[in-house]
Amino acid sequence: MAVTKEQYPEFMKMAAIVHLPTGKVLAKGHNQRVQLNSNIRHGEMDALENLGRVNEGVFRECAMFTTLSPCIMFPLVVLAENENFVGGEDLLRSKGVEVVNLQNPEITKMMSDWIAGPVGQKVWNEDIGEVTA
Ligand SMILES: [Zn+2]
Repeated sequence: MAVTKEQYPEFMKMAAIVHLPTGKVLAKGHNQRVQLNSNIRHGEMDALENLGRVNEGVFRECAMFTTLSPCIMFPLVVLAENENFVGGEDLLRSKGVEVVNLQNPEITKMMSDWIAGPVGQKVWNEDIGEVTA
């Protein structure tokens, strides 16, 4: 999907989640930190909340449009382990965020057991944005 300046008035006065193959706006949001007394309802997070739960793989076909550059909210992120999943650690580091991995084997086992269990098998790929093979 080509994004043109002419689309800015529609998409860029808020955060919007757009389905790339069709151009359909799936959800919109705007900063509501003050209105909702919330630390997380930045525009893009509000759009995600308004979208609700979606099936695995949906986000791979979507783009987030925002008025402003997304916020880096913390200078330090500490994670218990990353053997089960590696997310955006390198991206965070590239933006100056310190990422500390505690490599805790108890948590690695707890998560791998949960992923292999009945609930994890149903929702893990959805959680990490992967599509079941
Ligand atoms: Zn923000």
